[in-house]
Amino acid sequence: MRVLSIMVAASALTILANFSYAHESHPIPWGYEGDHGPLHWGNLGPEFSLCEKGMAQSPVDLLQSRPLSLDEIVFSYKDAPFHVINNGHTLQELEPISETVKSRYPKHGQTMLHFDKDSTIMLHGDLYLLEQFHFHAPSEHTIDHKHYPMELHLVHHNERHEAAVVAVFMMEGKHNPFFETFLNHAPQKAGEFIEDRSHLINPSDLLPKRRSYYSYFGSYTTPPCHEGVLWTIMHDPIEVSAEQIQKFRSLVGHDNARPVQPLHKRFVLESN
Ligand SMILES: [Zn+2]
Repeated sequence: MRVLSIMVAASALTILANFSYAHESHPIPWGYEGDHGPLHWGNLGPEFSLCEKGMAQSPVDLLQSRPLSLDEIVFSYKDAPFHVINNGHTLQELEPISETVKSRYPKHGQTMLHFDKDSTIMLHGDLYLLEQFHFHAPSEHTIDHKHYPMELHLVHHNERHEAAVVAVFMMEGKHNPFFETFLNHAPQKAGEFIEDRSHLINPSDLLPKRRSYYSYFGSYTTPPCHEGVLWTIMHDPIEVSAEQIQKFRSLVGHDNARPVQPLHKRFVLESN
């Protein structure tokens, strides 16, 4: 790790403050505690009303799932340079999008070929482009209302701008070298990001070996809580050490999990 930090310091590492992304620059401040916490999101402004009134919200408890034979998810994740953001809510890696996709996305008639330089998944016959991944502590989804210490979210969109999030539970266990490198590239302060073009990251290093999963339709777990999100939650957790969980928690500075939401008329499917 020491060698890595020396190499990083001496190379193309950039720390920039006060970044602004369209989806992060919402004027309504929200958070995970007190008056701006999850129980009040729906009342912070009309734009957030789905957080209160939505009937297909996330996360959910996964206990009452229905085993079915579901399609395999095909992951085609590529190496990409680090671009880690501390947005005050979480630590997030923003995936680069190739020039080919920038110029064509989201036009119809795309094939796998157009995305060959980008990280994608094939899910239920649809191609989704990976845009970013980030972490929550504790986990947002639960099994029989039990939380894992952490949960990874890999956020994708297809050409119709429909979202698909792949979630991976993170349990306390072995030290995880990939997560360590990520944490070493994480900005200490909210509003900063670290870019390191000399080191590559491949999110497939964060996937469990076995690819069975839970699946349901829900929402984003942060305001404005938009619905129509296809959730895929991997069955098997990955391992990270207690120290790494603690390090993530101290970088974010607070819990960042929304409580579970009612299923209403929805079903959770489970691949068998
Ligand atoms: Zn998330």
